[in-house]
Amino acid sequence: MLLEVRDLQVEFRTGDGVAKAVNGVSYSVDAGETLAVLGESGSGKSVTAQAIMGILDTPPGKITGGEILFRGQDLLSLKEDERRKIRGASMAMIFQDALSALNPVVSVDNQLGEMFTVHRRLPRKAARAKAVELMERVGIPGARERAGQYPHQFSGGMRQRIMIATALALEPDLIIADEPTTALDVTVQAQVMDLLAHLRRELNMGLILITHDLGVVADVADRIAVMYAGRIVETAPVHDIYKAPAHPYTKGLLRSIPRLDQKGQELYAIKGLPPNLMRIPPGCAFHPRCPLARDVCRTEVPPLYEVSQDRGSACHFWREALHG
Ligand code: SF4
Repeated sequence: MLLEVRDLQVEFRTGDGVAKAVNGVSYSVDAGETLAVLGESGSGKSVTAQAIMGILDTPPGKITGGEILFRGQDLLSLKEDERRKIRGASMAMIFQDALSALNPVVSVDNQLGEMFTVHRRLPRKAARAKAVELMERVGIPGARERAGQYPHQFSGGMRQRIMIATALALEPDLIIADEPTTALDVTVQAQVMDLLAHLRRELNMGLILITHDLGVVADVADRIAVMYAGRIVETAPVHDIYKAPAHPYTKGLLRSIPRLDQKGQELYAIKGLPPNLMRIPPGCAFHPRCPLARDVCRTEVPPLYEVSQDRGSACHFWREALHG
């Protein structure tokens, strides 16, 4: 297995109290596989990714439990310089906002080229040639002519391609893409998703795709893990989730996707707001918003019940959710 996260727990200590951002998350991704991690903001999906990458702000963040195994090695037991080496060469991250992730005053060829001069000790000319090659690989038209331009001279979609190129530069085994298309319009979103899926296949990388939008992952993900209040509430192969979700929260997320065949209908929204992580409701954290909630949901935390061999749902009434 390429990456295994086991029972990860992360807290943030603030002046107002302790926010329990990740509460026992376990998931895995293999080479050539795409895992979509889905949830509203504050569900813990990005914090888990930051913990995997070793870029969590500590303090106020603190990993209080669990393991992160990368090719069998527990990353949490490594020293910072060892983590940095893995972060540079074996895993990379793509962020939502390319404009703030890229350096605005350094030309694109120099930013990409730096990956090769610093990590591979290539001379500048060879590094620039590699930079152009990468730009071509991620589909930037006129890459050779445009390589010397600055990030603001590219469109949003092209900037995101540049960031993907930066992440790919050292041919990592794992890429974590955190809301990589949220800032883009729908057509460009689809192009960037296609590009990621294509590169994942070509390079046999593991890909973790973090998103709040179930609509964008249908064609690219193999599995989905749905997060709520720092826990995984449902995990399943992507087609099973779309066909019949086994958790009321996933059902709500699916119903909130706008559908072309239901023009004029009001868009569904899950009632209420995600919980304050300093005061997570007892029992099932979703119970204040759940249409199926009963007394037991207010007192007993549901474990991840086995729905089938490769599916799990953290709902006491998953059968009802699945067949209802
Ligand atoms: Fe709803 Fe209860 Fe299931 Fe939680 S455990 S999702 S509250 S039915």
